[in-house]
Amino acid sequence: MKLTRRMSSFAPSATMAISAQVIALRGQGKDVIGFSAGEPDFDVPEHGREAAVTAIREGKNKYTQVGGHADLKNAILKYMKDEHGLEYSQKEIIVSCGGKHSLYNISQVLFEEGDEVIIFTPYWVTYPDQVSLAGATPVIIQCDGAAGFNPNPDDVKAAVTENTKAIIINSPGNPSGAVYSEETIRAVAQIVVENDLILISDEIYSRIVYEGATAFAPATISEEVKNRTLVVNGFSKTFSMTGWRLGFTLGPEPIISAMTKLQSQSTSNPPTPLQFGAAAAIGDLSFIEERVKTFRERRDIMVEALNSLDGVICATPTGAFYAFPDFSGWIGKKIDGAEITDSLTLTELLIEKALIAPVPGIAFGVENHLRFSYALDTERVKEGLKRLAAFANKLV
Ligand SMILES: *Cc1c(COP(=O)(O)O)cnc(C)c1O
Repeated sequence: MKLTRRMSSFAPSATMAISAQVIALRGQGKDVIGFSAGEPDFDVPEHGREAAVTAIREGKNKYTQVGGHADLKNAILKYMKDEHGLEYSQKEIIVSCGGKHSLYNISQVLFEEGDEVIIFTPYWVTYPDQVSLAGATPVIIQCDGAAGFNPNPDDVKAAVTENTKAIIINSPGNPSGAVYSEETIRAVAQIVVENDLILISDEIYSRIVYEGATAFAPATISEEVKNRTLVVNGFSKTFSMTGWRLGFTLGPEPIISAMTKLQSQSTSNPPTPLQFGAAAAIGDLSFIEERVKTFRERRDIMVEALNSLDGVICATPTGAFYAFPDFSGWIGKKIDGAEITDSLTLTELLIEKALIAPVPGIAFGVENHLRFSYALDTERVKEGLKRLAAFANKLV
């Protein structure tokens, strides 16, 4: 059987072998601590769950408008107004089946052969593949960990060509947990305007920030920037609704309208009762503070433990729920005769010998780093870090 050429544009996943290794060890009864979770360990807030169940009971189980029910759209529009003072109309929003689906729709309606899309490291694994799948070329710009992974505007300017179509930013970011400075975002937005590009701003972690960090929203800079910005957000992270598959995009009407057309011939509307659950959830954000506090406690435990290890440098992430430490100091070292050569071998050895499973940095385009999620129980975080320290003690 012959698959399409477009499928061969996918890079094999660097994390697949890792998951298989974890599953195999767990199958042998080994207690592997997974630091790879890309979803909060909390449940959906009560008022959201109740509203979804009520919607099912009340028979709100039919199709809605392709781009989402007006009640949910209105609830999101109100959120954008309250949070950022940004005004959008019903025609400038589409609700899709997860933020990933929102980004997929964007790639499919905006990118094609010959287009270039600028992506910054460390990047969310999905961006380059979605861009390639649309036939376009991802242009990867390396960002410096010492600069908090803020892109250098000069590098961005140098990367722009006549084929550049868009720039994707993700702040707070996965996997770095970095929150870009307002200055950086303004500089990138200016490049977008000057070169007639589109800015795709993935703001999925915008509410998960620490010690006063704010996720600066580029669309607030000016009408000019807003008119070129696609804001992507969703319910998976802030509302712990990963399994509900609800994401949304706000932006210029012609793009939203094209995305809606594409969605009308692919998934149609996201699940109806869950839209009502999400509309209720976004109307009351009081649950967030407590959760962010818990994340922050775990973050502090994790960053301190990581930095106490010789050869490991961990910047303090100010957003999301990941730490992205640099293990360069461990490359070339050995444990029980096995050599650590890169982030992948280090991950394999950590799983095998310490029974902890992070994600290798190479999956996000940055070698010698590992991503540790702290979206797991605090006691498990502590236990996993103990195992990491014991592993470190055996390195020669
Ligand atoms: C989790 C995540 C998303 C969206 O996830 P969905 O579950 O599809 O809504 C988007 N961007 C980043 C960076 C993420 O980590």
